[in-house]
Amino acid sequence: MTTTTAPAPAMKPWVESIHAYVPGKAALGDRPVVAKLSSNENPFGPSPHAVAAMTEVLGHSHLYPDPAATALRQALAARHGIDADRIICGTGSDELIHLVAGAFAGPGDEILYVRHGFAVYDIAARRVGATPVVAPDVDYTCDVDAVLAAVTPRTRVVFLANPNNPTGTLIPAAEVRRLHAGLPPTCVFALDAAYAEFAEGEYEDGLALADTHANVVALRTFSKIYGLAAQRIGWGYAQPALIDAMHRIRAPFNVPATGQAGAIAALADEDWVEKTRTHTLTWRRWLAGEVNALGNAGLRAIPSAANFVLVEFPEDGPANAAAANAALLADGIIARYLAVQAMPRCIRISVGTEAETRAAAAALRRFVESVVP
Ligand SMILES: *Cc1c(COP(=O)(O)O)cnc(C)c1O
Repeated sequence: MTTTTAPAPAMKPWVESIHAYVPGKAALGDRPVVAKLSSNENPFGPSPHAVAAMTEVLGHSHLYPDPAATALRQALAARHGIDADRIICGTGSDELIHLVAGAFAGPGDEILYVRHGFAVYDIAARRVGATPVVAPDVDYTCDVDAVLAAVTPRTRVVFLANPNNPTGTLIPAAEVRRLHAGLPPTCVFALDAAYAEFAEGEYEDGLALADTHANVVALRTFSKIYGLAAQRIGWGYAQPALIDAMHRIRAPFNVPATGQAGAIAALADEDWVEKTRTHTLTWRRWLAGEVNALGNAGLRAIPSAANFVLVEFPEDGPANAAAANAALLADGIIARYLAVQAMPRCIRISVGTEAETRAAAAALRRFVESVVP
């Protein structure tokens, strides 16, 4: 390969400012993986009905998928009691996050989210030349007053993941509605409910808000509880004007035929969803308890409403997060060390199968006992 001295094409400055998304580790080289708990996936895999439906459409792979995802939108509408015409499907909800940013913000505009919000919001804002603005949080949780205080006349989009990733924290329905009520009608409120199915108590998934307000889009995904992360299927719900804007800039055939068929079958398998939910809530509580039992070494589980637990370690000293992550990896446990997301004290551990979750807790305990006499 030769390197020329001719001037290279210049990256746009806003693209240059992006730190590419760092996905969770999936492998350990030649060492065996005991548990991959780095990406909040369904530990049971997809519903067998979804696998059957996807297998069936593989033989039609020479045909483009339905660009409108009509059958999937109808299934979602029936399942959630909403209007199919107001649903847009995306290549994961990741694509929909980018569509919201791209349709409503550009250079000179601001996109607002809370500190420790989902990492893609920053990328989505910068990608379109908008300025990312980060509101302070309170103990890893959205502070509605701080978000509202950060709104300016240039704010075009507010992203809120609720429950949030990577913190797992939730704000109650009344707080979500108070946040929305405080926003100007010209600002899009994108409520990212990727973990809606794991939330307990008084919860607002955004569908009702999106039904009645012109500036709300609710975002959902099949990647988490439905166990279809590899198929890349997300969906958004909003009033027609918002949906229309997003359609204009989406890729024409953005959800593969396998994904559409798999999602429809997964939606119908309510037992699979319920089994995952029950398991997750049980083992989430158990894992948090195991972490908090190591409180004497300074470990703390942040209360989670999602399918993972965020573990906070002491800032320094031998029981720190970097050392814990190395110890977990040595034991074949892949969790998500969040130094790359400016959280050097934190490791996020997805709830796995019982055996995986127990293995993670045991590795954490072994680590603590090895460094704290
Ligand atoms: C996982 C996740 C998504 C995106 O998932 P897709 O696989 O793109 O559908 C969106 N938001 C949050 C907060 C997530 O954690």
